[in-house]
Amino acid sequence: MNTPFLDLGAAYRELQPEIDAAVVRSLASGCHIGGPEVEAFEGEFASYCGATYAVGVANGLDALHLALRAMDVGPGDEVIVPSNTYIATWLAVSQCGATPVPVEPDARTYNIDPARIEAAITPATRVILPVHLYGQPADMDPILAIARKHALKVLEDGAQAHGARYKGQRLGAHGDAVAWSFYPGKNLGAMGDGGAVTTNNAQLADRIRVLRNYGSRVKYVNEVQGYNSRLDPLQAAILRVKLAHLDEWNGHRKVFAHEYLSALSACLVVLPHAPEWADPVWHLFVVRHKQRDQLQEKLSEAGIGTLIHYPTPPHLQGAYAELGYGVGAFPIAEKIHQEVISLPIGPHMDMRQLASVISAVKHATRV
Ligand SMILES: *Cc1c(COP(=O)(O)O)cnc(C)c1O
Repeated sequence: MNTPFLDLGAAYRELQPEIDAAVVRSLASGCHIGGPEVEAFEGEFASYCGATYAVGVANGLDALHLALRAMDVGPGDEVIVPSNTYIATWLAVSQCGATPVPVEPDARTYNIDPARIEAAITPATRVILPVHLYGQPADMDPILAIARKHALKVLEDGAQAHGARYKGQRLGAHGDAVAWSFYPGKNLGAMGDGGAVTTNNAQLADRIRVLRNYGSRVKYVNEVQGYNSRLDPLQAAILRVKLAHLDEWNGHRKVFAHEYLSALSACLVVLPHAPEWADPVWHLFVVRHKQRDQLQEKLSEAGIGTLIHYPTPPHLQGAYAELGYGVGAFPIAEKIHQEVISLPIGPHMDMRQLASVISAVKHATRV
């Protein structure tokens, strides 16, 4: 039996009549940029997140970038980012001409460690940018307290955490804004690229709306040098269908995650740890193992698809050679990157596939 890492075809098959109808409705509307599908999705997603505003953009990287621009981040500024994240978090900062300042994660949750943030703050710091990595909320209360104390803004990277709750409240507006990606493999994924920013701040929402559309509010009147970064109405129509199933699908992920947690508790892998205030949505089920590459190979031989999130931390990528960090600069992130492996998880796995992964992991990690 083959167990793919994630089966996106199954997601389409389950919703095909609804998705096909939404696509036809969008095409027939004659409105191919912006319009009613985008506006309806923005309203529905904002209300799902418990935020006042949602602004659709072209992808998750743009959501981060435009939100930072709207916060006036520019050259000479610093933004605090996790050392353990996908490179998009850092790139958004660099695209503003600002400098990402990495902070190490908590070794158990893999999310930014609030206790290490203050040491990284300088007079140039403008924003703290926590990531809700692997679908698990970052510890927002201490982060917000530090931000208040130093008069900093907080932008959250929610790309992996649609629907996750922190202390009972859905992510969406704990900080000043949250950037979302609807890349197909995310918990809420489009069938192409998409992104959004949610916020309770009317001015921020307005600035992002202007920035995503050539810096223009009124056609051919350009207030600022903006971008072309709009959420496609076809994708918005598809996202509306999928949003209605998000909680149910996150629920399936949770069942599988809890099965893994109990079945693998005696194995020689380090399991994910969710603090009691966290209600994660299990975008990824990430375990650690000292011989990660061998484990991945053995699982592959057993027909099980796994991925590494991520093999190389941003500070060791060629893209960030300019910052001059070498090996050893962020040892917690480096160790995590060397040992992590993501097991298959998704709303359309079945119990047989789950059992095969569990038995293969047990077999491969036997001493
Ligand atoms: C996917 C992802 C992004 C970027 O999203 P895109 O839509 O691919 O641009 C940003 N941050 C994190 C943590 C992600 O996982």
